[in-house]
Amino acid sequence: MEILENETHITPTTIPRPEHTLSRADISENALKVLYRLKQHGYQAYLVGGSVRDLLLGREPKDFDVATDARPEEVREVFRNCRLIGRRFRLAHVHFGREIIEVATFRGRAAEEAGDRLMENGMILRDNVYGTLEEDALRRDFTVNALYYNIADFSVVDYAGGMADLRRGHLRLLGEPEQRYREDPVRMLRAVRFAAKLGFTIDPACEQALFQMGDLLQAVPAARLFEEVLKLFMAGTAVNAFEKLRHYGLFAHLFPATEAALAREEGAFPITFVTRGLHNTDVRIEEGKPVTPAFLFAVLLWEPVRLRARELEAEGIAPFPAMQQAGAEIVIAQQGVVALPKRFSLPMREIWNLQHRFTQRAGKRPHRLLGHPRFRAAYDFLLLRAEAGEADRELAEWWTAFEAEHAPKQEGGQPAPVSRRRRPRRRRPRRKKPS
Ligand code: ATP
Ligand code: MG
Repeated sequence: MEILENETHITPTTIPRPEHTLSRADISENALKVLYRLKQHGYQAYLVGGSVRDLLLGREPKDFDVATDARPEEVREVFRNCRLIGRRFRLAHVHFGREIIEVATFRGRAAEEAGDRLMENGMILRDNVYGTLEEDALRRDFTVNALYYNIADFSVVDYAGGMADLRRGHLRLLGEPEQRYREDPVRMLRAVRFAAKLGFTIDPACEQALFQMGDLLQAVPAARLFEEVLKLFMAGTAVNAFEKLRHYGLFAHLFPATEAALAREEGAFPITFVTRGLHNTDVRIEEGKPVTPAFLFAVLLWEPVRLRARELEAEGIAPFPAMQQAGAEIVIAQQGVVALPKRFSLPMREIWNLQHRFTQRAGKRPHRLLGHPRFRAAYDFLLLRAEAGEADRELAEWWTAFEAEHAPKQEGGQPAPVSRRRRPRRRRPRRKKPS
């Protein structure tokens, strides 16, 4: 279906219940409650976004988002357990214990600079202009994310050809790609993320622009990029996402020091550490084991840290302080691009700092290291380094044997369980564009 910017109306395709596979049985009870209650109060209510997309694909949605013609204040009047959040993008959160159903009012197409929409160099900084379902659909990012499940008759409403794209596994931005990326550069990362996660093909025009527009990511707040990086690398398809990000030249805009380190080869061999580490993360998620951002970032930043530590050692600094200083330098530089909260950066640096202690195998030292709260993560990290041929294999094997003999039996793995599977949903505190 063609989208004409100046056209006032587009006739949507409505797919009646018998002709699609989205079943109420697969929708979270709380999301259904919200949809029904809004309807009872005379409002329109639709399930929208990733949940509709994933359910139609037969996948388990991560969360359920609702779109309505009720204003945020009106939503609050319908639900006692409701909080309004967001300045940039005002939303209602309806709380059910740990589950939060996000309810967004349809966004409109008002003049580019209306009082409630704020643009800067083509980038949307705030959007609280309300509109119709049709307008809301056209403001979404990809056609497959712009499908609406109507609680009034259980049909799916499609304004942009999303159903056809879903069927052929095609990722296509609504509207003109350059303009849409400029409005919100994070859409480039979302393109890569959905392509990696769903195995979809990116539409040629949307793909071409990825090669050219990576610079725009500089304007995105570091805290928002942190959230996006987690979604890219903690969805079970991190290796694929990493390879795609590098292919499009986007990785360099997220992890410049790592990109520079990876561009070198060592002894004619390309560096495989990051890929192996991300593969390890994918396997853990597949197995339902915990994965933490601290370990993930330890992997992503290790190459530049290791190189810098080696330089410092060459200047005569002892291995341990060299590692500490290298870690500090790389973290400071990285924070300006992708923010890493202290609760993750501290354990990450411990994982790095402990690497040196694995080489000290005399006397009581190995026993003390075994008792260190971060031993498990640091040991997993050592194994990865050994696999990548960067740490001594014999050393890793020694520790495996030592650990098997002396460690109290426990659940294997990275610290601070943050399992991404079968776990009550957590929401990030801040919010992105239309939902
Ligand atoms: P998932 O939740 O599986 O990561 P999702 O598509 O639901 O994927 P969300 O970030 O939850 O992603 O956003 C919900 C919906 O809001 C999207 O499907 C899309 O319609 C819209 N949306 C989100 N971010 C943007 C954006 N940056 N630009 C335009 N629309 C967006
Ligand atoms: Mg979602």
